Amino acid sequence: MLHKFGGWLALIYLSSFVVHHVELRNIRREPESDARPQCGYTSCHPTKPNMLNVHLIAHTHDDVGWLKTVDQYYYGSETRIQKAGVQYIIDSVVESLLRDPEKRFIYVESAFFFKWWKEQTKEQQDKVKMLVNEGRLEFIGGAWSMNDEATTHYQSVIDQFAWGLRLLNDTFGECGRPRIGWQIDPFGHSREMASIFAQMGFDGMFFGRLDYQDKDERLMTQKAEMIWHGSENLDDKADLFTGALYNNYQAPDGFCFDILCADQPIIDGKHSPDNNVKERIDAFFEFVTKMAKGYRTPNLLITMGEDFHYQNADMWYKNLDKLIKYANERQANGSNINLLYSTPSCYLKSLHDAGISWPTKSDDFFPYASDPHAYWTGYFTSRPTLKRFERDGNHFLQVCKQLSALAPKRSAEFDPHLNFLRETMGIMQHHDAVTGTEKQKVALDYAKRMSVALRACSTNIRSVLNQLSIASDRNSQEPSKFEFKTCTLLNISSCATSELNKRFALTLYNPLAHSVNEYVRVPVKDYNYVVIDPTGKVLPVQAVPVPKAVSNMKHRNSSAQYELVFLASSLPPVGYKTYYIEKSETIPAIGKPSPSPKKTSSYTVIGNNNIQLTFDTNGFLAEVTADGMTRMISQEFLYYEAATGNNAEFLNRSSGAYIFRPDNNQIRFATDEVTIEVYKGQLVQEVHQKFNDWISQVVRVYKQSNHAEFEWLVGPIPIKDNIGKEVISRFKSDIKSDGIFFTDSNGREMLKRKRNHRETWNVKIHESVAGNYYPVTTKIALEDTTARMAILTDRAQGGSSLEDGVLELMVHRRLLHDDAFGVGEALNETEYGEGLIARGKHHLFVGQSLQRPDVSLKAIERLVQLETLLPSWKFFSNVSYSSDQWLTSFTNTYHGISVVLPKFVNLLSLEPWHENELLVRFEHILEKKDDVRYSQYVQFNIKDVLSAFNVENIRETTLDGNAWLDEHRRMEFVPDPEDEAYNNYGTFTKSSKVVHLLSASKPMLEVKYSKETLEAGQLGAESNRIKRSANSRHFTLHRKPQQEVSAENLKISMQSSEREKYLIELSPMEIRTFVVYLAK
Ligand SMILES: [Zn+2]
Repeated sequence: MLHKFGGWLALIYLSSFVVHHVELRNIRREPESDARPQCGYTSCHPTKPNMLNVHLIAHTHDDVGWLKTVDQYYYGSETRIQKAGVQYIIDSVVESLLRDPEKRFIYVESAFFFKWWKEQTKEQQDKVKMLVNEGRLEFIGGAWSMNDEATTHYQSVIDQFAWGLRLLNDTFGECGRPRIGWQIDPFGHSREMASIFAQMGFDGMFFGRLDYQDKDERLMTQKAEMIWHGSENLDDKADLFTGALYNNYQAPDGFCFDILCADQPIIDGKHSPDNNVKERIDAFFEFVTKMAKGYRTPNLLITMGEDFHYQNADMWYKNLDKLIKYANERQANGSNINLLYSTPSCYLKSLHDAGISWPTKSDDFFPYASDPHAYWTGYFTSRPTLKRFERDGNHFLQVCKQLSALAPKRSAEFDPHLNFLRETMGIMQHHDAVTGTEKQKVALDYAKRMSVALRACSTNIRSVLNQLSIASDRNSQEPSKFEFKTCTLLNISSCATSELNKRFALTLYNPLAHSVNEYVRVPVKDYNYVVIDPTGKVLPVQAVPVPKAVSNMKHRNSSAQYELVFLASSLPPVGYKTYYIEKSETIPAIGKPSPSPKKTSSYTVIGNNNIQLTFDTNGFLAEVTADGMTRMISQEFLYYEAATGNNAEFLNRSSGAYIFRPDNNQIRFATDEVTIEVYKGQLVQEVHQKFNDWISQVVRVYKQSNHAEFEWLVGPIPIKDNIGKEVISRFKSDIKSDGIFFTDSNGREMLKRKRNHRETWNVKIHESVAGNYYPVTTKIALEDTTARMAILTDRAQGGSSLEDGVLELMVHRRLLHDDAFGVGEALNETEYGEGLIARGKHHLFVGQSLQRPDVSLKAIERLVQLETLLPSWKFFSNVSYSSDQWLTSFTNTYHGISVVLPKFVNLLSLEPWHENELLVRFEHILEKKDDVRYSQYVQFNIKDVLSAFNVENIRETTLDGNAWLDEHRRMEFVPDPEDEAYNNYGTFTKSSKVVHLLSASKPMLEVKYSKETLEAGQLGAESNRIKRSANSRHFTLHRKPQQEVSAENLKISMQSSEREKYLIELSPMEIRTFVVYLAK
């Protein structure tokens, strides 16, 4: 039966090959030696049956910046801060591995590895390749950094994996491809991350940190290892085998043999008075015996390493050798404990081979508490401006990728510039970067790296935009006529080009695959300007004064007093429009903007036909009218006073960079009266609110908008009273949410939250505020049977619903004490000698919770979420032309894709990949439940969409873009019978033979093997990796079996498959990734 099945497989593959005849370029080489690689599952040391097999995992955890900067860690400088030098670690480990083929090591962070790799001689590189091919050095995780899971956006997570795995693939081929996720240090774990790992083809993931109560319960009930359902929409292709490590990622107490540790080595001198072999082995056996009670199989994974360990690898290995030797010697006397050098993939293989079933999980691992008073929910908000800058970085990276791909001519620097930004964004995803849990100096280093990388990519963009826009200017030979400058201070209404010039051009580049209408704001000196669109039409404009809190800001070096507002309509997909803006010498129709007369006795209303906001006489929001109903909705700023203590015991925990711990859960109002100014014009209506000396806000509704914008400005947070403060924006409604609210998972699927409750275990919450906080990467919402309220954020923040109908988001925090989790500094950000000021936006949606006649509010929110993540990027250029000259000389409208994709399809990636290749990802942005009409399959033709490119071929890959999806195999694990309510495992049944591979109702893209059909050993090194092999196989869509192909049929089949190949379907929340081959 088994063999037969294998035979069928071969036949199917063969026939597919005959049909397609595809040359597949540029996906990795085979190893250069003749020897067949023995990496991955085939390189595992054997375990012993009927014994407790202890898999010793030699590893180092190398933070891509934390107490020291990335480079300080790599080179090992600043030893007084931390004795840590990654270059020495890799040097030392490689030497040890070369000496002894028995030894194993795993390496995780590609950011460090490739820095090291580039410094090696060819000879050394070849030795390392040999280690990788023999499975002695194994890459695991493999992303640029070990990303955080609470504050990162999925687009950036996917990007940084794609890049890390790409370099591993380019360098090592199939043996360099990690199969295991290794998230040992991030502070809680998101369900989306599990889904991403699964879609990248990983077989499993191990992590270190989960709530202490959850962990106790899981160990007690042997549920520390499980099948995690990563998605409510994607069925089993988002399932991931996941294991919680026993001891975080440290060695057992007393067995830390690193140069950084103080534990005793194993002393085995026969006559040494210090001989401790018996005592050490006894202690180790005691540890593993206890640990074994928490796990289901006779296999244990024990991490032997820690932060920056193995700078002197021999110290570790010498002692591990002895540990293994003396422990296993006892087997002669009846011991059933067997120690071995192993890797997490070998451990996973042992679990798989055990042939047992596993518990399942569908919620996530947030929030993480390490003790009753340490909820790691502060870092959801820590360093709000760095968190926003990171989001800008993602935005610019997408723009830079697209334009680099669209470039008519590319100079040699294009790739290095783009890669620099890719890698910098990879660093930013690290669990001590975007999280805000690094030292201040390190945060500044991250910001500096970002700004240099953004500048590098700007030069690509300037070149491309000039090429595209001056193509029609026959008189011009200038290669870079226009500046296409980015104004980085638009968030304080400052931009030299628009302020200082009487005329300038504004190019709006739209990175989305649908056309967009967008209200644009430009800082200007005066209020009378004319805006001309690419067709020569003069657009309606409105000038709104820059809010006083902004214009009064110290160190704001700007003469802009107004923001010029206009509606840029129908911005072309993956393209741009350039607008010509000129100061008008004649008085325009609009006069100088002035505030509406002050009213003290009546309410203030702003809005449009879709949504109206009413403010009470004290200046607070009081009501929102939308979707034909009026709801009481107020908004205010409050702050928690931070708990302080010496951290000597749990009860004395301070609020800090990681931990949110309000003092006695007390909350204070920022003010009880708000002074307001109201500006109403034909494009936007605004209420400028001042809450106190350090909190202000602009609430605005644009003419055609379906939601309200709250642009908050907080800081410097006062600390003269020596009290740290954590500031929230709170929206109170009369919606009866009954303890339930929803938060997003890394910007994708929404997760249901219930106050004082965890979905899969009984929680006792000792911090009623902090323990109910969840990460909000993009959205928080609540609803009842009639109404719904949702808020979109512009960066990651912590949020909660502590009362029914109420949502709060923490926007800023300034603390005076450290929380004793290592960073060793208070989170007290300053700028120009004062507390840091942060500014950002919340987008408020209110409306009917049920399906509305046309489209649901949820679907609209998804669309706005996308449009606020990736709005058009503004490029400013000084121009010397008259408007007429400008209109006739340049290409002022450009679109890079020809077919506008359906609005709910996102072009998640469009980037240059290998030579003459693009990497593209399409994504359905709705969940199944979001909308009755639009949460459906959509179908489109890739070739039509990418008609700007000369597409020769495409091939679908796993989510990371580095493995062919049709060659993709994943280990399969069987859920416990009682958990089989969710049963999507029956991809095919025992009785059917071939058809089950090809007869799936949906395009059969992922071949899943149930246990009966493949021997465990076959799921090994030879599967699942991209191979460059002459007879590489078929393309993606197979809807019908093709078992026998005659010459006649072959021709027909080729024609239809040629068409079908480019036709793709997306189901709700589905992402599909393709390598697109371009004609040379
Ligand atoms: Zn770490």
